[in-house]
Amino acid sequence: MARIHIVGAGIAGLACAVRLVRHGHAVHLHEAAAHAGGRCRSYHDAKLDRLIDNGNHLLLTANHAALGYVDEIGAHQTLQGPARAAFPFMDLRSGERWTVRPNGGPLPWWLLSRERRIPHTRLGAYLAGLRLAVAGPDDTVADCLDRTDPLWERFWEPLTVAALNTAPEEASARLLWMVVRATFARGEAACRPLIARHGLAASFVDPALAAVRAGGADIGFNRRLRAIAFAGDRARRLDFGEQQVDLADGDRLVLAVPPPVAAALLPDLEAPQEMRPIVNAHIRLPDRPALPPGLAEDLPLLGLIGGAAQWLVVRGDVVSLTVSAAAGLAEESGGDLAGRLWRDAAAALDLTLPDDPPIRIVKERRATFAQTPRALRRRPPARTRWANLLLAGDWTDTGYPATIESAVLSGWTAARACGNSR
Ligand SMILES: Cc1cc2nc3c(=O)[nH]c(=O)nc-3n(C[C@H](O)[C@H](O)[C@H](O)COP(=O)(O)OP(=O)(O)OC[C@H]3O[C@@H](n4cnc5c(N)ncnc54)[C@H](O)[C@@H]3O)c2cc1C
Repeated sequence: MARIHIVGAGIAGLACAVRLVRHGHAVHLHEAAAHAGGRCRSYHDAKLDRLIDNGNHLLLTANHAALGYVDEIGAHQTLQGPARAAFPFMDLRSGERWTVRPNGGPLPWWLLSRERRIPHTRLGAYLAGLRLAVAGPDDTVADCLDRTDPLWERFWEPLTVAALNTAPEEASARLLWMVVRATFARGEAACRPLIARHGLAASFVDPALAAVRAGGADIGFNRRLRAIAFAGDRARRLDFGEQQVDLADGDRLVLAVPPPVAAALLPDLEAPQEMRPIVNAHIRLPDRPALPPGLAEDLPLLGLIGGAAQWLVVRGDVVSLTVSAAAGLAEESGGDLAGRLWRDAAAALDLTLPDDPPIRIVKERRATFAQTPRALRRRPPARTRWANLLLAGDWTDTGYPATIESAVLSGWTAARACGNSR
């Protein structure tokens, strides 16, 4: 029986493997790390003595592929979120709080109501957002929108940074419009936020590994692919250092690794080159904090303006803060950063924090590729010039931002292509 080798057990590799074993293929999954999940993982942190995620990951109900994947691996019950879309925000400088609550249906009548609009914003500023719809391929978000309008700081900038992990001055306007079209333009039901109740591993990784194992796959950790040997139009041998694997006729290879790794293994590959960091801080408090008004019990999420962090999530007695597109911050020393994020948390939750609470800073320096117009043109399709080699990963040309949604779609595309390739 022909074998399919998947290299990389992140979400893309796992989504691909789950689909392939379901269709009866013989799968070998090779992962360089000692665990699966890649950029989407949880672990027990000894300093906090709590299970933490490498970073807060948010899905929206518009993420149909991600939710389909979670369903497929039987983990739907592990996601939690409010019954209706509501995004509470706070300006850390003034203490002002508001909640963005899109209405049901595609007509955004909530914008007509001054009470429902974001404070100090005008209807005209929202309508000007339609400029994104006609953006050219080289336009950035900042090229299309007015940076002096209050809506910039209170909506467009946080949305761009959260959705694209790229500063709006360099982020693709077209990609942001794609996000708006799939979410806010479809109304409240497409925008409900969801998080993993018991951590990322329990929702996205462990059940997938169990399904792949149950499907008879061979799963190898600490197996780093170092080189690929080619002959004619095919990949012929995988070099894992101590182990060499020959590919027979009919065998296929899915490379589900991050773009810098794929580019090193395939020197003529055109792929996005620059990556952008995300920094997360997890702070353990003495007790579960009282939630300020506006925060939902079923997903205590708060958007922050005017501080270092952009999002805060409360899970039990742990407060987690996220800084996306964190190029400057990622270089700051742990102590300075911890102090800044700690002050944001204290102001947001109205806490008198203990002197030195346990805090864990997680810097993901290569969280996603920089989603600039130029980089989007370098996203490759799943198929390569090698007849038996396919690509997967959030950075491949799925049309979606580099997210779980994109990773799952890319894994499914590669799985489908495996069925059709020689
Ligand atoms: C802090 C943070 C916050 C995020 N927030 C969100 C969010 O809110 N919502 C959202 O949808 N997305 C979010 N993302 C993005 C999301 O995590 C990624 O899009 C997704 O996990 C990418 O999956 P992937 O399989 O494409 O890549 P990866 O997760 O990078 O998987 C690649 C795998 O390949 C392995 N590998 C690398 N080299 C080799 C080799 N030579 N041999 C064998 N294996 C190798 C790696 O160890 C890894 O396991 C966030 C990411 C980060 C880092």
